[in-house]
Amino acid sequence: MIGQTAGAGAMYQAMSTLGFAQESDYSGPIKLTAAPRDTSVLILGAGMAGLVAAYELQRAGYKVKVLEYNHRAGGRSWTLRGGDEYTELGGSRQKCEFDPGLYINPGPWRIPYHHHAMLDYAKRLKVPLEAFNQLNYNAYLHSSKAFGGKPQRFREVRSDYQGHIAELLSKAANQGRLDGELTPEDRDRLLESLRAWGVLDQQFRYRASEATSVTRGFAVDPGGGLMRRPEFSTPLDANELMRSRLWQYLVNFHEYEMSPALFQPVGGMDRIANALYREIAPLVQFDAKVVKIDQDERGVTVNHVDAHGRGAPTQTKADWCICTIPLSILSEIEIKVGDAMLAAIQAVPYEASVKVGLQFKRRFWEEDERIYGGISFTDLPIQQIGYPMAGMNQPGKGVLLGAYVWGTNAYEFTAMTPEQRVRKAVEFGAQIHPQYATEFENGIAVAWHRSPFTQGCFANWPDDVREKHYNDLCQIDGRIALAGEHASYLPAWQEGAVLSALDTIQRMHQRIATA
Ligand SMILES: Cc1cc2nc3c(=O)[nH]c(=O)nc-3n(C[C@H](O)[C@H](O)[C@H](O)COP(=O)(O)OP(=O)(O)OC[C@H]3O[C@@H](n4cnc5c(N)ncnc54)[C@H](O)[C@@H]3O)c2cc1C
Repeated sequence: MIGQTAGAGAMYQAMSTLGFAQESDYSGPIKLTAAPRDTSVLILGAGMAGLVAAYELQRAGYKVKVLEYNHRAGGRSWTLRGGDEYTELGGSRQKCEFDPGLYINPGPWRIPYHHHAMLDYAKRLKVPLEAFNQLNYNAYLHSSKAFGGKPQRFREVRSDYQGHIAELLSKAANQGRLDGELTPEDRDRLLESLRAWGVLDQQFRYRASEATSVTRGFAVDPGGGLMRRPEFSTPLDANELMRSRLWQYLVNFHEYEMSPALFQPVGGMDRIANALYREIAPLVQFDAKVVKIDQDERGVTVNHVDAHGRGAPTQTKADWCICTIPLSILSEIEIKVGDAMLAAIQAVPYEASVKVGLQFKRRFWEEDERIYGGISFTDLPIQQIGYPMAGMNQPGKGVLLGAYVWGTNAYEFTAMTPEQRVRKAVEFGAQIHPQYATEFENGIAVAWHRSPFTQGCFANWPDDVREKHYNDLCQIDGRIALAGEHASYLPAWQEGAVLSALDTIQRMHQRIATA
């Protein structure tokens, strides 16, 4: 387990920093010429990839049908609200007890500004978006092993880390230790920039002052009239800050996918998927679990059963098929494609992740701690606490993302019952927000390796596997083509699923036109 996880964790890091660093290829709505008469396309799966494929193909005049395992559209683009029920692999059933208006997105929750296709579908389908704050300067960075376990504000850690580094570097520069690297003029420019960047004083020191308090915050904030005079705050000790490793979280907010502007649909991430679904609702059959995919030179035959075991198995036939079922599941289904595609389907591991949503009697993170949206990071197994962007500064209850867990922690959380996951999220979270003890009401936990419709979080392509198999996975094999986040260079993002669907249907449309 550890071996596997170390690999997956390292890969996730690498993907976050390298593989994802590319802008979406989307160049606007696709225009397919009219479909040949009476040509049918069967789409398997109604996540973002399947929905986009169905929406665009039916607009072009194809006879489209969609088979979907769940009793809802969206796949991983999913929002849990009060009254929703969910049974995971292993049989544990949860009922979401959130109050009306509150929700958690157990899967996707943010859309970066450069995910053009997602933003365009939201605009075309009139789904309102609101800002998603990845970075909140007043949220916490927390190490259970430093500062007596007391969480530190992001603004203090950022300012102090930058200030201490700037002081050290200017000391080295002033002592002539960088003279081999820099001309005297460039050394002076470096010192000038370090003074500005690190908020150093005239002697290149990072000290409590009005200037540093303006960046890291005051001990007593400036007020009015006869209120207390403002007091400067004291920077964190440089050595303890270094030892705390809290600096490791500073880079997250500057990654390409995490830097502003980010968005979320108002009311929950499923709003975009649902808007697409409304356009094609009559074409979608829910509770249809695909168990076999066959083809010959004349067409495709798909066997499916009722997802709840009711009724007899059914066959649906079509001229062509686009399958968006995650590889983690497709690899367990009999499918008639060539050896190269079969090997590709079998080759890709899936990353593990767990999210826990927690409802509290009041929004204490806003009322007591002035944290409006954003994320706190911790070295505890819950890893992140996400604060809701919706309903900020309103009285009443609120729902936190109480854990967003990856790597080894995710496997451990997956092995627990949902109740244990919620309890652990509350126990660990109380080390950061002691209010948990009195304010917690109820929670719900989704461990993605126990999701019966994905059996994992996202396709975690190792470089060598992608090199060997990716091209084969993306071919049209006879009358069958695959689409989905797994068939993209943007795995773990809805944009990848949408771009994959658009690319596949354009190639299939061309193939049909020339067939
Ligand atoms: C924890 C987590 C966090 C994420 N965060 C973000 C984020 O912040 N932003 C972002 O853009 N993306 C994020 N993603 C990624 C995003 O959710 C996916 O990339 C995208 O939703 C995948 O869409 P898809 O259509 O390829 O697959 P899916 O959404 O998985 O759709 C596949 C469909 O196939 C159906 N299916 C499965 N088996 C069968 C069967 N046997 N028969 C019939 N149907 C079947 C499923 O029910 C499902 O509806 C996150 C994902 C997770 C899990």
